[in-house]
Amino acid sequence: MLSPTEVYLRGSGLTSPRVRERLIERLQDAGISDERVLRSMRRTPRHLFVEEAFSGRAYEDTALPIGHGQTISQPYTVARMSEAILRDGVPNKVLEIGTGSGYQTAILADLTNQVFSIERIKSLQDLARERLRVLDRYNVRLRHADGWQGWSAHGPFDAILVAAAPDEIPPRLLEQIAEGGRMVIPVGPQGGVQRLLMIRRVDGVLREEILEGASFVPLIAGAVA
Ligand code: SAH
Repeated sequence: MLSPTEVYLRGSGLTSPRVRERLIERLQDAGISDERVLRSMRRTPRHLFVEEAFSGRAYEDTALPIGHGQTISQPYTVARMSEAILRDGVPNKVLEIGTGSGYQTAILADLTNQVFSIERIKSLQDLARERLRVLDRYNVRLRHADGWQGWSAHGPFDAILVAAAPDEIPPRLLEQIAEGGRMVIPVGPQGGVQRLLMIRRVDGVLREEILEGASFVPLIAGAVA
């Protein structure tokens, strides 16, 4: 007998293995080639991270609303950022800014040793916590706070992933990149030209590289909601 959770995780119809596999093929067609990332996305059920009304669209390569004017990131974006995070070796300690639904958090938890993730909207964080528990991804610590400040008590981090776009790179986050570490962050105005950047600390010097164009919700400064 399958437990109700197992039945839900297996899914049926629109969440069948075939529908999920089609998303993986689409990501490969779009240039995602890191097998670790593809494997992780294959075994992380995205329909658990969206509201039930959208679960039929969970395996489309598109961002979807998660409430509070926020969205679960497009699978391509999650894959691309995860690839960038792993490019120079598997990081031990990762900081994520903008937990949102917790989907990218779950992928990071699968791919790396330890994940610290900050979200400014408490109700989103609570839902994310529950989903990570259902999936047994326990190597994650969540914090309800303003991500601009990072999480210095646990830093520096081998990798930082920022899931919302500031106009300028938050200096406190730069400080928390470990030597040899990296940060993937979209920068630019809401609705304007945004760029996904990779910033690495090599021999104490920060080096910046543009990965591609981007379109993210804004990284909101200041008080938590
Ligand atoms: N990867 C997430 C993306 C969610 S959208 C997912 O796929 O679900 C970006 C998230 O960043 C939102 O949940 C938003 O509330 C959060 N956010 C925006 N500004 C923030 C800040 N200053 N600190 C922490 N989280 C922030």
